[in-house]
This record gives sequence, structure tokens and C-alpha cells, in this order.
Amino acid sequence: MKLADTRGRALRDLRISITDRCNFRCSYCMPKEIFNREYEFLQRDLLLTFEEITRLTSVFKGLGVEKVRITGGEPLLRRGVERLVADLAGLGLDDLTLTTNGSLLRRRAAALAEAGLRRVTVSLDSLDPAVFAAMNDVDFPVSDVLEGIEAAVAAGLTPVKVNMVVKRGVNDDGILAMAEHFRGSGNIVRFIEFMDVGSSNGWRLDDVVPAQEILDTISAKHPIRPVAANYPGEVATRWQYVDGQGEIGLVTSISKPFCAGCTRARLSAEGVLYTCLFATSGVDFRAPLRSGASDDDLRQMIAELWEARTDRYSELRSGVTVNLPKVEMSYIGG
Ligand code: SAM
Ligand code: SF4
Ligand code: SF4
Repeated sequence: MKLADTRGRALRDLRISITDRCNFRCSYCMPKEIFNREYEFLQRDLLLTFEEITRLTSVFKGLGVEKVRITGGEPLLRRGVERLVADLAGLGLDDLTLTTNGSLLRRRAAALAEAGLRRVTVSLDSLDPAVFAAMNDVDFPVSDVLEGIEAAVAAGLTPVKVNMVVKRGVNDDGILAMAEHFRGSGNIVRFIEFMDVGSSNGWRLDDVVPAQEILDTISAKHPIRPVAANYPGEVATRWQYVDGQGEIGLVTSISKPFCAGCTRARLSAEGVLYTCLFATSGVDFRAPLRSGASDDDLRQMIAELWEARTDRYSELRSGVTVNLPKVEMSYIGG
């Protein structure tokens, strides 16, 4: 059975957050002032087990989901994630990938690939050690993340996608350096406009560097041309270096929203399903999973939710909705 929402959008991708914890405190995601000692992260027994996640994912697959991304928080902090990867790989999805801050990747890349992971996305906001340390706000060295990326390449988790969130006055002077570092490597940098996710990162429109500006910065030195999307609903727009040295991506959720092609659902670590990154509420699946719901019951719940879906936050992004309390990025997983 395939589903369509009220705007005719299919359900194709599922992002699964497996923890709300992280060893970084990126200021745009988990600012230290809020995510401090007093902050109450989810207790272990509230997290969906790997068995529950796999069962639910198999129900999603029956409804048309073919692309699954494991995320967090920092997903590699959850013990035994390789076991989850192996279980999900066993479902025979078209695409199984994971987004990580790369801090633990050097030691884990080979095992993840062996378990059946296809690709990995690594977040890396700057190559400048001081800027990177300030952005992750725990003084984590950029060299370790670069080694993690190399380990991922060596393990065949390619092409590695490198996510750089661009914030004006913070790391925008490193756009060209980032592009040039990965030019010709076969890996793909994706420049992401700083988004107003959650309610704690102090987002201001002035902090956003519009994608066109990023594009102009790069193309002034290395001419690029647009390329067609790999599949309908691909989030990043693709651009190729004219001299054949690879491609970059731009995620334009502020300057050019892509809600019309948004085919993703998001499952939080405690089993709440959201149909939009900017949702203010979701539907709990943990209780039904733990109280004997059948696969048919779960299918019914997902179908009802998706078929009623009207989300297009980024297209509206104005007026009242902006001020409602939204779920945090570290909770829902990006
Ligand atoms: N911890 C992992 C990581 O950083 O890759 C996975 C979770 S993280 C929430 C997923 C992605 O969301 C990262 O690439 C991160 O840079 C991005 N992100 C977080 N907050 C953001 C924001 N306010 N605007 C744009 N991207 C954001
Ligand atoms: Fe952690 Fe990723 Fe959020 Fe940074 S973006 S604080 S690494 S969850
Ligand atoms: Fe999808 Fe919501 Fe983002 Fe629009 S704002 S692209 S509906 S997640």
C-alpha cells in the first residue's frame, strides 16, 4: 500500500533518531545554556529498543518507505548501533544511511559498513580548528572528524556527504576552503542554511547566509552548473564543477523552501512520529508497540497520520507559526 498526504506527497523516507544525547554542544542545535547539567534527557527505558525500531521500520517499508536515515542526537553514542544497522539492512531497503558528527567514526566506520550501512553523512562546520572548536563548543578537534571521514571512505561508505551549516559571521568565511578541501575527492559537501528549528538556538534571519550567496562565493573561483536531482523530493539541490571535479549540494530551506516535494517522516528516540521537522506535536508509537498493537494497527495509525498531513512550514514561515514551541533538532534528528 502506498500513501499520499493532502498535497499528494508520498511517504518515502524515514529518519529515525536513536538518542537525544550528544557529545557536542553546537550552538545552533544544543546551546550549552539550555542543554546543561540540569537538562533532562530521555531515560533509557523510554527509548525505543532496536527491536521496536526494526519492527516499525518494516511496517513503514510496507507503506512505501525505501530510504532510512539513522540520526540523533549523536547516533554513535547509542551502544550497539551496528546491531540496529544490521537489523535494518536485513529489511532490504533501497537506502540505509546515518548522520553523525564524526567524532566516533574513525573507530566505528568499518564495523558500520560491515553491518550493512551504505553511506554516511558527516557534519563538519569548519576546517579552521578554532572556528570548529567554538561551533561544537566542546573543543573537539577538527582533525579527528577528518580522520573519521577518511575511515568512512576507506570502509566504502561513499560518497561521504559532508554537512556544513553556514552561520553569518561565524563560519561563512570558510565556505570556499570547505568546497576546495573536498573538491575532487569524490565526497560531496552540502551547504545548509541555518534553520529556525526548535526554540532554543536564538535563530535570526540575519544569521542566515542565503544559498545564492554561497553559490556565488564558490562559482566565482570554480564555475559550477546545476544538475538534475537524483530522485524526486531530493532535499539538496545539486551543482557540479564544470571542470569535472565533483559536486556540491545546497539545502535552501529558508531562501527556497522545498515543502512541495517533502516525503519524510521523522521518528523520535522515544517513538513519537512527526510529519514535519518544525512540528509542534507528534503521535506516540511506543505505547501501542508496548501494548500489543498488531502490524495492521500500526499501519493504520501511520496511514491516518500521513493521509491527514498538511505540513508546509517552510513555505509559510511567517506570522504565528514561527512563535509556537517546536521540537528541538537534537530530539527529532534533522
Ligand atoms: N549529531 C549528528 C550530526 O550532527 O550530524 C546527527 C544529528 S544533527 C541534529 C543532524 C543535522 O542537523 C546536522 O548536520 C546538523 O548540522 C543539522 N542541524 C542542526 N541544527 C541545525 C540548524 N539550526 N539549522 C540547520 N541545520 C541544523
Ligand atoms: Fe550534536 Fe549534531 Fe546537534 Fe551538533 S548538530 S549538537 S553534533 S546533535
Ligand atoms: Fe518538509 Fe516540514 Fe521541512 Fe516543509 S518544513 S520541507 S514539510 S519538514
